[in-house]
Amino acid sequence: MKYDFAIIGAGISGMTTAVILAQHGHSVALIEAAGRMGPVLRGFHRRGVYFDTGFHYTGGLDDGEILDIFFRYLGINDKIQKIPFDPDGFDLFRFPSLKEDFLFPCGYNRIQERFCSVFPKEQKGIRDFFHAVRESFQSRPYLNLDQDMSSFQKLRTVYGPSLKAVLDSLFKDRHLKRILSGHCYLHGVSPEEVPFSQHAAVVGSYYTSVHGLRGGGAGLVHAFEERLSEIGVDVFCGQRASAIDFSGTGHPEAVRLQDGTRILSRACISSIHPRFLLNLVPSGLFRPAYIRRLEALDESFSSFILYGVNRSGRNPLKKRNLFVFSADTKDPFTNNCPLEKRPLFISSATPENGRSESQGVAVICPSMANQTAPWKDTRAGHRPEGYQRVKGRIMGILKHRMEESCPEFKDAVEVVEGATPLTLRDFSNSPAGSLYGVKHRIGQYNPGPATRIKGLYLVGQAVVAPGVLGAVISAFLTCGSILDHDRIRKELNACR
Ligand SMILES: Cc1cc2nc3c(=O)[nH]c(=O)nc-3n(C[C@H](O)[C@H](O)[C@H](O)COP(=O)(O)OP(=O)(O)OC[C@H]3O[C@@H](n4cnc5c(N)ncnc54)[C@H](O)[C@@H]3O)c2cc1C
Repeated sequence: MKYDFAIIGAGISGMTTAVILAQHGHSVALIEAAGRMGPVLRGFHRRGVYFDTGFHYTGGLDDGEILDIFFRYLGINDKIQKIPFDPDGFDLFRFPSLKEDFLFPCGYNRIQERFCSVFPKEQKGIRDFFHAVRESFQSRPYLNLDQDMSSFQKLRTVYGPSLKAVLDSLFKDRHLKRILSGHCYLHGVSPEEVPFSQHAAVVGSYYTSVHGLRGGGAGLVHAFEERLSEIGVDVFCGQRASAIDFSGTGHPEAVRLQDGTRILSRACISSIHPRFLLNLVPSGLFRPAYIRRLEALDESFSSFILYGVNRSGRNPLKKRNLFVFSADTKDPFTNNCPLEKRPLFISSATPENGRSESQGVAVICPSMANQTAPWKDTRAGHRPEGYQRVKGRIMGILKHRMEESCPEFKDAVEVVEGATPLTLRDFSNSPAGSLYGVKHRIGQYNPGPATRIKGLYLVGQAVVAPGVLGAVISAFLTCGSILDHDRIRKELNACR
């Protein structure tokens, strides 16, 4: 059989692309290197507790919001169960050395009131900042369906000003600036490097509503699995694509799998890291400038992650996450900052997933891939003792910091698993184990959905923005390039 489309990679962007194309009557083959679909989102179990991996929470999922419209369009809305985070404080920002907490609420009015009451001298800047975030968010065509496609290029903005420049121009209070930079965790780029508009496109969805899902990221993958089966998409899991074959006229004609099988198709869509795409195509296919651009793409930051079982029976972070910040730290998201001072993201928002009294807690600490560089040639499950020692020491630091910043966890959490940039690299099949793949930073042009090769497209977090919402939007953009944006947007509007 010759498929209309072969999609490489069954992450959220690949699965979304497959549903959109199949809903339009196309035959689709979805190829995934991991044993099951959605390896980044799927999470895992240890000691009877479910741990989320690539999904903790999302914005834009309230009824009628953009991700909700996308999920309705995709036919998965009735297959997932949303769990609202606490609207009075979905994220708690804690500065242990200052003995201060800040609860970040959702809803623009509530957010501004909260900031104004804590930082009364900064009222004007606060109003200007949130106005600018909302305007910037609303100006993007697939975040706002009323916005026409002429502003399409904004989706790929690489221009400044940076988030830091905007914060510096509006505020004096360093504490306030630190809080507003904290959500850089949601895209993995530092305030100095991320364009303000890109930051707004990611965080803007969280400013209006925040949800988790019953069953976590695995719940989302199950919804897609069911939908893909309903609409007849053929899924090939545990099958790594090793090459894309092209016809004499230069069009994709098959995806070759590692075992030699050829999946014949008229067009091919790659959702894998764009740099890996270069390994799949014949040399000389792309222009040297495009190759150089893909090879030079910077990565968002990676992480050390501690997974623990909280046996206290108490959950201090019910329906919210905790961000822990050191008061005076330069470059908190980079290796320039000592591990002891880097920010932590602590999530334990998985109580609805388990039936037991125990709950999972994940502590995520930014790191660059070069921190595990000595072991870069090893694979998961086969790493030497030196690596295990360093990893054990780092998990010890994270546990100590978690207990210090959140006394409710003291002596209650047993560490059951740990991840490093290398773990993330191997489990997500990505080049550097970055949290969000390619870094969307000032000055870096990320690849667009269409390549110069007819029938060869890209999709995924590298295209517009990371996160579940960013990856889903990339799928709509890519399918819009294939099927016509006006058509897709008209259909989306019918789901509002
Ligand atoms: C620890 C962590 C926490 C996160 N938390 C959140 C969160 O709370 N909220 C949020 O919105 N986002 C979160 N994210 C980000 C989010 O998970 C990603 O942005 C999103 O899943 C990216 O989807 P994608 O489809 O673009 O890429 P991927 O999911 O990476 O999909 C690419 C797929 O291609 C497969 N593949 C690679 N090479 C091949 C090959 N040769 N052949 C076949 N298949 C191949 C991979 O196995 C993978 O499944 C988090 C990420 C991490 C790592």
